[in-house]
Amino acid sequence: MFEFRIDGICGAARAGTLTLPRGDVRTPAFMPVGTQGTVRALSPYDLRAVGTQLLLANTYHLHVRPGEDVVATLGGLHRFMGWDGPILTDSGGFQVFSLQGFRRVDEDGVEFQSHVDGGRRRLTPERAVEIQWALGPDIAMALDHVVSGIAPRHEVEDALERTARWLVRAGERHAALAAPAPDRQTLWPIVQGGTLVDLRRRAVERVLDGASWTGLAIGGLAVGEPRAAMYATLEALAPWLPPSMPRYLMGVGFPEDLLEAVARGMDLFDCVAPTRNGRNGQAFTPDGPRNVRNAAHRLDPGPLDPTCDCETCRTYSRGYLRHLFMADELLGLRLLSLHNVRFLTRLGEDARRHIIEGTFVSWHTDWLARYHAGSGT
Ligand SMILES: [Zn+2]
Repeated sequence: MFEFRIDGICGAARAGTLTLPRGDVRTPAFMPVGTQGTVRALSPYDLRAVGTQLLLANTYHLHVRPGEDVVATLGGLHRFMGWDGPILTDSGGFQVFSLQGFRRVDEDGVEFQSHVDGGRRRLTPERAVEIQWALGPDIAMALDHVVSGIAPRHEVEDALERTARWLVRAGERHAALAAPAPDRQTLWPIVQGGTLVDLRRRAVERVLDGASWTGLAIGGLAVGEPRAAMYATLEALAPWLPPSMPRYLMGVGFPEDLLEAVARGMDLFDCVAPTRNGRNGQAFTPDGPRNVRNAAHRLDPGPLDPTCDCETCRTYSRGYLRHLFMADELLGLRLLSLHNVRFLTRLGEDARRHIIEGTFVSWHTDWLARYHAGSGT
């Protein structure tokens, strides 16, 4: 259980198979985000239909509402949301970092104000593990101290050292909980360090110091730093990561970022962009993003993306999709979310095929050239 097998390598890009309690995940793979135990506007049937292999749910959100005890009483997160495939939960660290209201980080953990009832709550490395154990995902994440992508060096350094100290506590608590059922859930650490390469390397050393993990996550990127800085950080980091571990790049999921990260050796991705942008009428296409509200689509009988095999593209015209958005019809939100999740899922599938066939490098260069040439038109 929790094994990762490399199926092919092309340049720095990897294709692999991750074995989890509820099934295998073939990588590179995109994870749709089910913040509140649901991927907005999409049912588990929709997600299966577009080839989703692994879902992400948010520990913070499920903790404040409905509470992990409610989810556990109703059979755990898989049963609760009607998804029997693999699930990964984040640690809650990023949500707390993103909160607008009160938050305070100290050595013990983080205190924050619930966005639901305004009450003060405390999350510690141990509590984050206990909450995720009660929720029951296949992969849990250790609590990390997240800082802005443009934070000064001393803040980044302080956060990465704290994250390393918290990891020891999280690992001990998880080992105790999982001792009677070691195949139920695994815990992954998060590598912090901003865009400072020496700090990233130190974070990797801290994470790997005397511990054996079944995978690791790269956090603290795609949080406000320039894209070029994110790519450069990944490029510098990849040689320091153990080749045998799956690498999850947190919060990255715009098509061009996903592909650039695959090219730099990343395996798993999550992002709210496909569903959030979909609800705003923005669709990903091989020729860049398109807004279906655009008047140019009014009389267009063609599919949103002629290369796509999703329900939306096989069934409806651009003209109809535009009409749904102009009329504020709920179906429009579902159809665009469905297409965008399929688009990123298929991008992972295509990348995997080209990695195994040894054609990834030229394919991804051509793919990005077409995508960028069409963006903004
Ligand atoms: Zn489609």
